[in-house]
Amino acid sequence: MAVVLSRRRFLKVGGAAAGTAVGALLGLGVDLHPKQVRAQSLRIQNAQAFPSVCPYCAVGCGTLVHVVNGQIVNIEGNPKSPINMGNLCPKGAATYQLHVNPNRLTKVLHRPPHGTQWELIDLDTAMDRVAELVKKTRDETFVETLPNGKRVMHTTAIFSLGGATIDNEWNHLQQKLMRGLGIVRIENQARI
Ligand code: SF4
Repeated sequence: MAVVLSRRRFLKVGGAAAGTAVGALLGLGVDLHPKQVRAQSLRIQNAQAFPSVCPYCAVGCGTLVHVVNGQIVNIEGNPKSPINMGNLCPKGAATYQLHVNPNRLTKVLHRPPHGTQWELIDLDTAMDRVAELVKKTRDETFVETLPNGKRVMHTTAIFSLGGATIDNEWNHLQQKLMRGLGIVRIENQARI
């Protein structure tokens, strides 16, 4: 004979059955909690934890980077950071995917002067080229004294534009480098 259950009755019976199953497991001495704890600890087992800073915005939330055999295996909020006390926003919580990502770009596209084709160059070559052009521009445009005799020692031909991913520490070094070169037009999110 078919048994007709109302939706309310079905949920009640189902809930009771589930409760009974869990209760039976507990009655047999099966403790589910240790399995959960073990599964969480395995991910960073034997990992070294390095304190770091989230690269995404000038809030500068502290992170812990877990490394096994030179490979990043996990990044999470640093509970000892007075800024975020272990919390990360969704963007910061995804920092691991910034580092460990097969789609991450590791080459630079470069089109030389008067060239019509893009060339692939590595990051070191690109950095050397940027440094070379900054030095060249700075030397060609450096002004020691204005026509009125005022000593300025600066160049107005280079503008340093920072962004949301630059944290306080990087900004501090950026300021030192730029001002050391005589660059006075400097902007970044942290407003240093
Ligand atoms: S992006 Fe989020 S987690 Fe990263 S520093 Fe900014 S607020 Fe913190």
